[in-house]
Amino acid sequence: MSQPDDLLKKIIGHAKEYGFVYPSSEIYDGLSAAYDYGPYGSELKNNLKRYWWDAMVRLHEEIVGLDSSIFMHPTTWKASGHVDAFNDPLIDNKDSKKRYRADVLIEDYIEKYRLKIEKDVTKGKKRFGEDFDEEQFRATNPNVLRNQKKIVEINTRFKEAMAAENLGAVKRLIEELGIADPETGSKNWTDVRQFNLMFKTELGSVAGDGSAIYLRPETAQGIFVNFLNVQKSSRMKIPFGIAQIGKAFRNEIIARQFIFRMREFEQMEMQFFVKPGTELDWYETWKERRIQWHKTLGLGESNYRFHNHVKLAHYANAACDIEFKFPMGFKELEGIHSRTDFDLASHEEHSGKKLRYFDPQDKESYVPYVVETSIGLDRLFLAVLSTAYTEEKLEDDTERTVLNIPHALAPVKVAVLPLVKKDGLPVLAREIMSRLKLDHNCQYDEKDGIGKRYRRQDAIGTPFCITVDHESLKDNCVTIRERDSMAQERVSIDSIGEIVNQKVSLKTLLSQL
Ligand code: ATP
Repeated sequence: MSQPDDLLKKIIGHAKEYGFVYPSSEIYDGLSAAYDYGPYGSELKNNLKRYWWDAMVRLHEEIVGLDSSIFMHPTTWKASGHVDAFNDPLIDNKDSKKRYRADVLIEDYIEKYRLKIEKDVTKGKKRFGEDFDEEQFRATNPNVLRNQKKIVEINTRFKEAMAAENLGAVKRLIEELGIADPETGSKNWTDVRQFNLMFKTELGSVAGDGSAIYLRPETAQGIFVNFLNVQKSSRMKIPFGIAQIGKAFRNEIIARQFIFRMREFEQMEMQFFVKPGTELDWYETWKERRIQWHKTLGLGESNYRFHNHVKLAHYANAACDIEFKFPMGFKELEGIHSRTDFDLASHEEHSGKKLRYFDPQDKESYVPYVVETSIGLDRLFLAVLSTAYTEEKLEDDTERTVLNIPHALAPVKVAVLPLVKKDGLPVLAREIMSRLKLDHNCQYDEKDGIGKRYRRQDAIGTPFCITVDHESLKDNCVTIRERDSMAQERVSIDSIGEIVNQKVSLKTLLSQL
C-alpha cells in the first residue's frame, strides 16, 4: 500500500505521462498552482461537467443554465462582501519563511483528534463485533468524549476569535496548542494577518482606481446579478435554480497538493431561489440530492462525509461541506450553503434596482432566499483520478497500472485494435471504429503487441478493447475485453454498439438519481 504522499506523487506522475494533467507553462519551469489538462484530462473533465450539468439542468425542470462573463462590474464585489471580507487569515513562520492559513493549521490540528476518535471506534468495533452499538459508544466512551470536548473547545475559541476579528487571539490559540510548521517543526510564528484573495486587474487602457476590476473569485455572483433576467426570460416560478459552470480565480495563500488548490480553477455552482422561511428545508433537500449524486458515481460511499461549518461565511445561515477522502485525507470537495437573501438584498441596495419576485399565488413580492451547491470541478477530477489509480499484481506475476474510472466518465470508451497490421484486419477495424465513433470517443491502435496495447488502454482507463483477428474476417465476430475484470468475450460485430452503449452511457448514472 502506498503512503498518501507517495500515492499523490504517483498520481501526478501518471497524470502527466498519460496526458491527463501537465504543469502549466512547463518549458519555463511551470507556474505555481496552475495546471493544464491534456487530451485525456480534457475529455474526463468534459464528462464530469456533463454528468453534473445533465443531473442539474436536464433532470430538473426547475433549473436552467447560464454562462456569465468572468469580468463583472466592480461594485458586484463590493456588494457581495468580497472586497471587504474575502480574506483568509495568514501566518508566516519566521524560521522557514513559509506562509500558512491560520484556519487550516487549526483545522489540521483538530483533524488529529478526529482521527483518534475514529481509531477508538474501529477498536470498539473489533472488540465487540456484531454487538457493537456505534452511536452509544460515541456517546459514552470516555476517550471519545474527551477528544470530542477538545474539538468543540478549539472550534469555539477559533470561531469566537474570528467573529470578533481578534487575530491576536487566533495567534494565541496556535501558540497554546503548540502548533508547529508542518514542514519544519518550528513554532516561531509572526502575527496573524488578513489577506484578500481576489486578483485585481485593469479594464481598458486607462490605469487608476476607477478602472480596477477583479477576476471573479466565484461564479455565483454572475447568477445573482442575472436573477431577474433569467426568471423573466424563462418564466421561472419560485422555487427555481440557475446552474453555471465556469472559471474562478483566487490568489490562494498556499496552493499545493496538485489540482486540489489552484489559483485558477473551475466551479460548478447552482443557486436555488426559494421563499424566505423555506430555505432550511431546501438546504436539507440539496444536501441529500448532492450526496446521492456523488455516491452514484461509484467512487465508494465511505469516501464521503459531511462537515458542518463552524465559522459561517458572512452570507450564510447554515453551511456544510461534502468532504472526500483524497490521498492527503478528508478534504472539502463541495460546499452547500444557505445564503439567505444576503446577495440579492445587497445587490438591490448597491444597484438601486429591485431584485424581487412577485409570487402570483400569495400575491406578494419578496427578495428570495438562496441555497447554493458549489463544487470544484478540479477537485472532483482529483477525486476520480485518485480513486481510479490502481496498481495490480496479475496472476502471471506481471503488474499493471489501471485507472478504474467509472465507465461513463472514461476519456476513451473503446479502443479498436487489429491483432496485426496486415491481412485486411486494419480495414475491418477502421470500419468498426467509424461506426462506434459516432456515439463515443474511440481510439484506434495498431502499434506493438496486443498485451502492450491493452496496458496502454488500462493506463488511461478505457473500459473496452475490441480486438479484430483473422477469424473476424470469416465469422464477423471480435473479442471484447473489459478493463477491470480483463474478461474477454467473443461477440458479433453488430452487437458491439449495444453492449458498449449500455455500459458507458451517462444514462446509466443519471437514471439512478
Ligand atoms: P477551501 O476551504 O478549501 O479554501 P472554500 O470553502 O473557500 O474552499 P468555496 O468558496 O465553498 O470553497 O468554493 C466552492 C468549491 O470550489 C469548493 O468546495 C472547492 O471544490 C472549489 N474550490 C475552492 N477553492 C479552490 C481552489 N483554490 N482550487 C480548486 N478548487 C477550489
